[in-house]
Amino acid sequence: MKFGEFEVQSISGGRFRLDGGAMFGVVPKTLWNRKSESDELNRVQLDTNCLLVRTPDAIVLCDTGFGSKLSEKQLSFIDAAPGNALISHLNSNNLDRGDVTHVIFSHLHFDHVGGATCLNSGGELEVTFPNAVHIFQEKEMADAIGMAAELEGNYYDAEIRFWSENAKCQPVSGDSEIINGIFVQPTGGHTAGHQLIEIKSGDQHGIFLGDICPTSAHLNVFWTMAYDAFQLDVRRKKAEILDAIANSEVTLFFDHDPNFQASTIFQKNKKTFEIKETFDLR
Ligand SMILES: [Zn+2]
Repeated sequence: MKFGEFEVQSISGGRFRLDGGAMFGVVPKTLWNRKSESDELNRVQLDTNCLLVRTPDAIVLCDTGFGSKLSEKQLSFIDAAPGNALISHLNSNNLDRGDVTHVIFSHLHFDHVGGATCLNSGGELEVTFPNAVHIFQEKEMADAIGMAAELEGNYYDAEIRFWSENAKCQPVSGDSEIINGIFVQPTGGHTAGHQLIEIKSGDQHGIFLGDICPTSAHLNVFWTMAYDAFQLDVRRKKAEILDAIANSEVTLFFDHDPNFQASTIFQKNKKTFEIKETFDLR
């Protein structure tokens, strides 16, 4: 989709399933199940919608999906297919690993950073996008590398250590303009160092909210995930942003929605927002 001077596209890093209860936190199943159907294991369908932004002088990838390093057991747990979905989808869009200039991580959970590394023939981690700088909030790394017992399972140790030592990283602290028209802004909430990514070009304005609003079913301020480290912060941040962009032309990009990669929204009532117009970015 043309986006001012930019071109935006959603590249799937692979479809997967997670437990519906975990995806919708305190929301009763009778409610979330109407929006998101569950399978026999109570899992709901999700995608990893990595946002690709082509600017006149950069190719920026926002988040990278879960990648190609998961074991057979891990893949079956999340009902994902083996292989490297991200790379094959990039290739089918005439892009090569070497073309990506910037990778921006909303946060460092496995389903957002996994695609940015792969295993070489010696079984060691290597960067998937050798010419890209990799951007995340410093605070996110501080938490992830700390490997506090209460955060265990959220971050993959080997991946985090890899990025903490990698020269291709550019940690940022607070609001930052990454390149002309692409900004990051800390949100906290889902993780302490979570950030949103803002795209502005010409009269177009879009927000990649990461896991603050992972799917269109989460457009209700109270519908947060059990995975959110700071529930109340997610609700507050989500309310603030959705309030600001409802009934406008600002595009919201959903990182895990299995059907919609982007939409504008309208406000239905104080805490509920709904999709106005959707955009197919595949
Ligand atoms: Zn996450």
